[in-house]
Amino acid sequence: MKVSSKSRRQFVKNAAGGLGLVSLPSILQAQKLERIEKKKIVCVGGHPDDPESGCGGTLARLAKSGHDVTIIYLTTGEAGIEGKSHAESADIRKQEAIKACDVIKAKPVFAGQIDGDTIMDNAWLSKIQNLVSIEKPDIVFTHWPIDSHKDHQIASLLTIQTWMRSQQKFLLYFFEVCAGEQTMTFHPTDYIDITDTQEQKRKALYCHASQDPPGIYACGHAAMEEFRGRELGVKAAEAFICMNGKKQGGFNFF
Ligand SMILES: [Zn+2]
Repeated sequence: MKVSSKSRRQFVKNAAGGLGLVSLPSILQAQKLERIEKKKIVCVGGHPDDPESGCGGTLARLAKSGHDVTIIYLTTGEAGIEGKSHAESADIRKQEAIKACDVIKAKPVFAGQIDGDTIMDNAWLSKIQNLVSIEKPDIVFTHWPIDSHKDHQIASLLTIQTWMRSQQKFLLYFFEVCAGEQTMTFHPTDYIDITDTQEQKRKALYCHASQDPPGIYACGHAAMEEFRGRELGVKAAEAFICMNGKKQGGFNFF
């Protein structure tokens, strides 16, 4: 498909958008010094439990620092409970997500796509653009697009397109889930120390009782927190790739 010069210009503009923005780690560092104003954070995940497992520790840290955190769940996990109808599963998983957001101190938003049947089209792109732009975010998190789960990919692509088309400048960070099994070829640019919020993240994940929380940790998340922590030199960390790039606003923690 032909790419218009307008969309190319917008892409370049957004890619450079981080130049004037405060980076994620600087927000966390500066908050301690009370030198930074309140920021708006949005996380877009495929299913209830993805934002929590991918960046729950970081979201909890941001909320604890006084920033506004909103989690947009693309689907409500309709296909996620064996033996239950889509409606029954969605009801259970919505309540679990609301509880998890309460632990993280985030506002939950349910976009309304169907688990296992997610769609990337212009209508859904408009809807996600609207849901994100209402929040006027400074930072948005989403899945890394190379992932074995199609719903994760769709959540990522909708968010990337939203970032590309947005008139509002915001930093876009990708998180990893179940590395090696779901997220693939992930080479982090940024790390956040979650030592102080690791337990809060665990509590949020355990709100998703229907999803076998010990199984979520066993599928890699415990090892990921420890390994990313070793890379950063702390007990536990979460890792990210910054779309805007290190030079434009990614952080330099080392
Ligand atoms: Zn998922």
